[in-house]
Amino acid sequence: MKIAIVRETFDGENRVAATPETVGKLIGLGASVSLEKGAGLGSRFTDADYQTAGATLTNTAAEALRDAEIVLTVRRPAAAKLAGVAKGALVIGALDPYGNEADVAALAKAGVTAVAMEFMPRITRAQVMDILSSQANLAGYQAVIDAAGAFDRAMPMMMTAAGTVRPAKAFVMGAGVAGLQAIATAKRLGAVVTATDVRAAAGEQVESLGAKFIMTDALKDASGTGGYARELTKEEQAAQAELVAGHIAKQDIVITTALIPGRPAPKLVTKAMVESMAPGSVIVDLAAERGGNVELTQPGKVVDHNGVTIIGYTNVQGRIPSSASQLYSRNLVSFLETLIDKAEKKLAINWDDELVKATVLTRDGAVVHPNFVATAAAAATPAAQAAVAKPAPVVPAATDAATPQDAPVKAGAAKAPRRAAAKKPAATADAAAPAEAAPVKKAPVRRAKAPAAPADGAAPAAAEPAKKPATRRTAAKKPASPAKDTE
Ligand code: NAD
Repeated sequence: MKIAIVRETFDGENRVAATPETVGKLIGLGASVSLEKGAGLGSRFTDADYQTAGATLTNTAAEALRDAEIVLTVRRPAAAKLAGVAKGALVIGALDPYGNEADVAALAKAGVTAVAMEFMPRITRAQVMDILSSQANLAGYQAVIDAAGAFDRAMPMMMTAAGTVRPAKAFVMGAGVAGLQAIATAKRLGAVVTATDVRAAAGEQVESLGAKFIMTDALKDASGTGGYARELTKEEQAAQAELVAGHIAKQDIVITTALIPGRPAPKLVTKAMVESMAPGSVIVDLAAERGGNVELTQPGKVVDHNGVTIIGYTNVQGRIPSSASQLYSRNLVSFLETLIDKAEKKLAINWDDELVKATVLTRDGAVVHPNFVATAAAAATPAAQAAVAKPAPVVPAATDAATPQDAPVKAGAAKAPRRAAAKKPAATADAAAPAEAAPVKKAPVRRAKAPAAPADGAAPAAAEPAKKPATRRTAAKKPASPAKDTE
């Protein structure tokens, strides 16, 4: 059972699909691992480390891939590159199929079994395989680090002999996995943090991290299915805009993470709102890859508007590649463990397993995923091919109740990580954990220190299942700043 890992070729992608640690685990499962030299260097994993872990190094990608039964990847590889792999080889990664139907069809034609990890159902059993959560969690952290880097003042309150410096005010919009981690990180750095979301349940989670939740009375709860948000009505949007406009002008740092499955990112911060902020303020738009929450965001760029810095990096998790690769590669191993017969040391795929059914895009030369079968048929004609290449629809759904996947919905924005609609907001090991979590069997309970205590720098608040908000609220001592500063 040969597993191949090659260098990622997508521009700016520094992550790698296996680390020396996971290579050891893969070998433990009975596999041999071939790795193209230099594949881990972007994440600072050396060839020597991989070799020590038991990998065979190859000079070229083609050598690594030759006769491989499994290919682990971060991004979707070009079908042409996979020419030498074994018939039916599994190609497992974040394959980003929506808007890329022609590439998916090419993978089918190449005879590989393409597996899209972002379609992993968000059910208890699969939490450990949830690449969306593991990567969003890091992105939320990195967003605050990027904000701090661009901010020309200190984040925490500084009491010095020369006087006191007030803490920065940070506002997080969207309190899902990334947003909750951003809140926790900003708190650790000593900022005074407020947050908003359109799901009422997010309020308790925000408060459990020691931040203040703000929401307009006009918007009671816009929870959609699966723990996700629904799109707001025009009236609700107007009420939210009014709330945000009044609040944002007083903020130093704004982190936006708001997403709605199947839609382009909602526009929450207008040009006028940006112009209401003081020069030196910083906005990080984590939704940039889906078009952005901020009107002035330019995906992939950092722009300055009247002294306000707007950071629109895409692939933010890729800016912290070593950690991102560690978590991502563990997600892959956890999934692979369900596909391998450990005694026989060979692939033994249960094609009826809901995890397999939800993630397999192509098999035996055909596109088999229900969300793509129709488009694959249409793509058979050149005219249709041109048509399907344009839109970037979103949303595969997969839930604990194993509901069938939603039909894709067109999104205006281009490629983006797509969300599998989660039935339950169960606490995840690696994600900023939602408080309304459904029972989670294996959620590790960390005894975090007070999440809001900025000085210890060790409070993994957002990584902790927010099961005990009361306890954590007690623990969450506010930074020395007065509470009224929060608005
Ligand atoms: P997401 O990336 O789809 O959206 C990010 C956040 O933006 C969400 O909290 C959403 O409510 C919010 N949002 C949408 N429109 C908004 C607006 N107009 N203004 C402000 N905020 C807005 O969400 P996610 O991080 O993938 O999490 C979605 C849900 O899934 C959450 O309830 C989360 O706790 C849950 N979850 C479950 C699991 C699991 O069961 N394994 C794992 C991860 C997340």
